[in-house]
Amino acid sequence: MANQPKYAGREARQKLGWWYANRFLFWRRLTQLSILAMFLSGPYFGFWILKGNYSGSLLLDLIPLSDPLIVAESLATGYIPNTTTLLGVAIVIIFYAILGSKIFCGWVCPLNLVTDSAAWLRRKLGIRQTAKIPRTLRYAILLMILIGSAITGFLLWEWINPVSAFGRALIYGLSSTTWLILSVFLFDLFIVEHGWCGHICPIGATYGVIGSKSLLRIKVIDKNKCDNCMDCYNICPEPQVLRAPLHGKKDESQFVLSKDCISCGRCIDVCAEKVFIFSNRFNHSGE
Ligand code: SF4
Ligand code: SF4
Repeated sequence: MANQPKYAGREARQKLGWWYANRFLFWRRLTQLSILAMFLSGPYFGFWILKGNYSGSLLLDLIPLSDPLIVAESLATGYIPNTTTLLGVAIVIIFYAILGSKIFCGWVCPLNLVTDSAAWLRRKLGIRQTAKIPRTLRYAILLMILIGSAITGFLLWEWINPVSAFGRALIYGLSSTTWLILSVFLFDLFIVEHGWCGHICPIGATYGVIGSKSLLRIKVIDKNKCDNCMDCYNICPEPQVLRAPLHGKKDESQFVLSKDCISCGRCIDVCAEKVFIFSNRFNHSGE
């Protein structure tokens, strides 16, 4: 966005207190770090809560969890994964399809720590210039990966997947792919605002498609209270999703229904006028 204030959320902090203005950020960080701790409990303490990595894991030695994009790539190559992997991907798809829009991106993905740090530093340094690339690029990349995997017979994305590289780096220590993580950070900091998650990442695109009809949604409870401070637009990693419910036509839905919303709750945190809440998409009270 063109005129970014450095302190989106300051008014909410002053008016409603630090906890109100940061509570969803706090819960997200706690969730992200708890999941990381579940991976680390095995290697460090011999008690395996999550065995594996962010691409494929076993919860409590019982419940398989598989990355939908890797499974889709495998299927595209013509390889049918084993039953455990297929069960794992079914569990993941059902969970995220029902729960909320791109919950994986906002609450689970380890790379969110990197991209949020870049966005925070960008705001602090007042970096305003941003290269323009379409947000639909991630869906084109997703399609290209699947077609490319089908043609070559390789899991193409896994050669450069910075999400699993960062997950491995956090769990097993820095590796030769650590440069990928630094590249994502620098790309988001200097080249494109919210560049990686908001424009490039095909894993996020996959979860966007999976969660497009999910239940948990951001709801605008009273847009007349909005004083157009723009803090929500400035903090939101996908600000285009706010336009319809907040500044759209009269008959526009009160919900953020876009599949690109990552359900991070930061718009709720930073809004001093308490315009937003988390709700389910069928709760039409107040309309
Ligand atoms: S909803 Fe309105 S008042 Fe609340 S943060 Fe967004 S622009 Fe500001
Ligand atoms: S609309 Fe709110 S919950 Fe959705 S991505 Fe933006 S800040 Fe996060």
